[in-house]
Amino acid sequence: MDIRTRAIHAGDRKKAGPHVPVTTPIYTAASFFYEDMEQLDRVFGREQAGYCYSRYDNPSNGALEELMRSLEGGHGALACASGMAAIQTALMAALTERPKAILAADALYGATISVLLKVFAPLGIEVAFVDMCDLAAVEAAIAARRPGCVLMETMSNPLLRVGQVDRIAQLARAAGAAFIVDNTFGTPLLIRPMELGANMVVHSATKYLAGHGDVLAGIAVSDEPHYATLRMLSRAYGPVLGPFESYLTMRGIKTFPLRMERHCANASRVAQWLKEHPSIERVHFPGDPGHPDAATVRRLFAPGLYGGMVSFEIRGAHRAEIFRFMERLKLVVRATSLGDVHSMILYPVMSSHREVPPEQRERMGIRDNLVRLSVGIEAVEDILEDLEQALELE
Ligand SMILES: *Cc1c(COP(=O)(O)O)cnc(C)c1O
Repeated sequence: MDIRTRAIHAGDRKKAGPHVPVTTPIYTAASFFYEDMEQLDRVFGREQAGYCYSRYDNPSNGALEELMRSLEGGHGALACASGMAAIQTALMAALTERPKAILAADALYGATISVLLKVFAPLGIEVAFVDMCDLAAVEAAIAARRPGCVLMETMSNPLLRVGQVDRIAQLARAAGAAFIVDNTFGTPLLIRPMELGANMVVHSATKYLAGHGDVLAGIAVSDEPHYATLRMLSRAYGPVLGPFESYLTMRGIKTFPLRMERHCANASRVAQWLKEHPSIERVHFPGDPGHPDAATVRRLFAPGLYGGMVSFEIRGAHRAEIFRFMERLKLVVRATSLGDVHSMILYPVMSSHREVPPEQRERMGIRDNLVRLSVGIEAVEDILEDLEQALELE
């Protein structure tokens, strides 16, 4: 069945009695009751499927987990309280029986870098970074470090570089390392890393999946070998999603393919328009034929879908000019986050890359004149008009 159909049906209408709710209700119960003590005993012992306590399992979360398992093509999924909780749990599941070393992409979401350097490294886990778009460098780093886990994102932030997920999966597998891919920017409509050899896929469902800027949620999807460990970790330390957030996320996902197609179409149009604008020095967009990873994008992404993110550099602008440009925007919302129905813009130098020293930022290609736009699903003419009036005075 097509992903656009599964997004609407998967996970719902589990039979639990004589009537079946058409959509999954919000199960707020912390625990579950059985007439028969023998039955509760079997559920506790996991000899029989069933719910006993919501830190272990919850029917609202279970429906969302089944839905995400279906969309990413994994064995099972875990719904977490945030994207960061999903990333942390997946990393721990990867390292449980492997060397305590992580090889990560050098371009990652800021909080993911913090988890690696401020949480995992002080626990004695080795952390190293590599350019995931340089396959030879990845191969050399895996050989030198022998990591237990390789971690990357399908599209880097904010320059939107795209690594060869399938080739990196082969390298990780050959070295016995688990391979985790953060598919928040890519989404399963564009690319499904499990089908390309990843062991686990993680999401900030806060972004495109839920899509309305009204819920914080995370998902880890896993292959069979890591699934029992993932659930054991979740039972043990409880990073679970609340059932109300689970409901909101699932409600969002039903329209996710429809929204994502519009995000992609609007972003393609905005990127093209920006490229021709005299005030714009450079545009970073995976759908651009001149993008440094255009061949990988063509090979791995669904045809015609390049994501909803566009980063661009305003000619001659520095912090003051960028601030003025952003303050003049009337429709595009100045706020952190991405993937919402409304267009959003942020300034990486001020936010995600604030802690990175200027020289290092320059080397990474993140310049003082760069902004990151999450293109929403408004009428594209209105987005362009807003950008035009804000750029006019530059
Ligand atoms: C937002 C984001 C996260 C963190 O997710 P939260 O839901 O905010 O915890 C992780 N990775 C990427 C790529 C993100 O954009």
